[in-house]
Amino acid sequence: MSDVLALFGGTPVRGAPLPYGRQSVDEDDVRAVADALRSDWLTTGPRVEKFEKAFLGFSGGHYAAACSNGTAALHLMYRAVGIGPGDEVIVPALTFVATANAVLYAGGTPVFADVSPLTGLIDPEDAERKITSRTKAIVAVDYAGQPADYSALGDLSRRKNVLLLSDSCHSPGALWKGKPPAAYTSGSAYSFHPVKHLTTAEGGMVVCSDETIGKNVRRLRNHGIDLDMRERERRGMWSYDMVELGYNYRLPDVLCALGTSQLTHLEAWVTRRREIAARYDLGFMGLSGAVPTIAASNARSSYHLYVLKVESPPRDEFIKALRAENILATYHYGCVHLHSYYRKTLGTGPGLCPHAEKLADEVVSLPIFPAMNEKDVEDVITAVKKVLRGLPKARRAA
Ligand SMILES: *Cc1c(COP(=O)(O)O)cnc(C)c1O
Repeated sequence: MSDVLALFGGTPVRGAPLPYGRQSVDEDDVRAVADALRSDWLTTGPRVEKFEKAFLGFSGGHYAAACSNGTAALHLMYRAVGIGPGDEVIVPALTFVATANAVLYAGGTPVFADVSPLTGLIDPEDAERKITSRTKAIVAVDYAGQPADYSALGDLSRRKNVLLLSDSCHSPGALWKGKPPAAYTSGSAYSFHPVKHLTTAEGGMVVCSDETIGKNVRRLRNHGIDLDMRERERRGMWSYDMVELGYNYRLPDVLCALGTSQLTHLEAWVTRRREIAARYDLGFMGLSGAVPTIAASNARSSYHLYVLKVESPPRDEFIKALRAENILATYHYGCVHLHSYYRKTLGTGPGLCPHAEKLADEVVSLPIFPAMNEKDVEDVITAVKKVLRGLPKARRAA
């Protein structure tokens, strides 16, 4: 194999581009969707409940409500626990924008907490420093699939009398001390976008243990109407009352059918992701300039992402060179508080969350998804080493 980087005209490590994430859809999934299409209910039917029940088996909690996407799940969850105007909600700075955006949708104000430099997870001590008399909730994000420190966060939420919620869009199948995030939170939100663990094309879920919160989510999902269409039909009713301002955030039966079918693979897929991560950990031992994020010992990560911290060469050059080798790495995320919208509207800026800001410049998400084969995994390791060797040499020569 040529040592010359593909970026400089060498032969790429592989011919076909390898994406960082990709869905697995099989013929059983296709059949499940076709069956739903041939049934009486395309939406608000029995396949919604079936998916919700099946999901509870993996997520913990007692109530689950499927909804149109992960962002809608966050919005519903925030509204359902009563977040509104005047409330502050603490979110980690290193997350997808939706975690904070949905706080704004609900009328609240996101307050950014810093993250651990080792894991990228919300730092409970900084979250505590950010608590004020207006703080209503802390939202943990299970960054990359690692469960947040739910012991410390649970303790903090009890001591300070603020709600603990989770954006668990990265972490179906993840466990903290043997239990899923919903065992520790007042609500946990999931996404079924194609790059996530399981997909319904677009879709989301809110899981919680409290009956009132569960009912609130269901009502808000359906315009704030007291009973949904199926429930009214069951009771022989045709009139309804809208008791509060809700949304149409429903997930159709056609997509819930896909979700239930996908769910049968979740355990095996998480196991496969963990195998790939273990192989990477081994392959990247002793690299200079790059280290994997640390896995906490109390935690079972479901590895939505495999995150490498690249200190030198500069991260963006590293990604560019890796992409030329046909390894389509990317990064997650730029800090939310540094997006121009947040700077403009909340007056946030650099220096607010130093660890998150440093990580945001160093993190690289390498390909990880269940359908990757051994050759794909080896190609990634080969390409990472090639680029780490080749880029500094090229920079010295320049
Ligand atoms: C994907 C994701 C979301 C949003 O989910 P959508 O289904 O795309 O709306 C929110 N938070 C995090 C951390 C995510 O990864």
